[in-house]
Amino acid sequence: MSRKILLDLEKFRVGKGGRYYFGECVYNFHPDNIGMRTLVEQAMMMFACRKCEDAPCIEVCPEDALEKNENGVVVRAANLCVGCQSCVAVCPFGTIMNEVFTAKKSICDYCGLNDKTRTLKCLETAPPGAITLVDMEADEAEHIFALNDKVLVKEFIWENLINNE
Ligand code: SF4
Ligand code: SF4
Repeated sequence: MSRKILLDLEKFRVGKGGRYYFGECVYNFHPDNIGMRTLVEQAMMMFACRKCEDAPCIEVCPEDALEKNENGVVVRAANLCVGCQSCVAVCPFGTIMNEVFTAKKSICDYCGLNDKTRTLKCLETAPPGAITLVDMEADEAEHIFALNDKVLVKEFIWENLINNE
């Protein structure tokens, strides 16, 4: 078992002063890089999105910036997206946090995460409890799912809630 970054999407959605925020980032190669925002984007589209068959977010996008990938997950081409927020407004489930789709995608290199990592800049500056370091694997009974081999996501998946799982 190796150390992982656990994102609690519900805590990100609390925000501050009516705005979502994703903590600070120390990735040096691009100015304004907030790597956590890209991880949250991936997590919300993978786990919070209801993957509508008709996907009104894709239909409404004036720039054709959204499409479903081979797994049915809606992905955004950041080079096409102009941040108009039409998709945010049209989503019937409030899936998309508006401050996510205003920005180019940032890069997260996990700051060299390993079993000795005690803290991260993003962890210290994100909404309280939104990011923690854990030594565990995905545990669907606890609503914790794997985003990749370094990141877990806690989210209450609507299908599971409907089925009382
Ligand atoms: S915010 Fe971006 S992805 Fe959403 S509708 Fe506008 S251009 Fe398309
Ligand atoms: S409209 Fe909302 S819930 Fe439906 S596919 Fe788009 S982002 Fe997901």
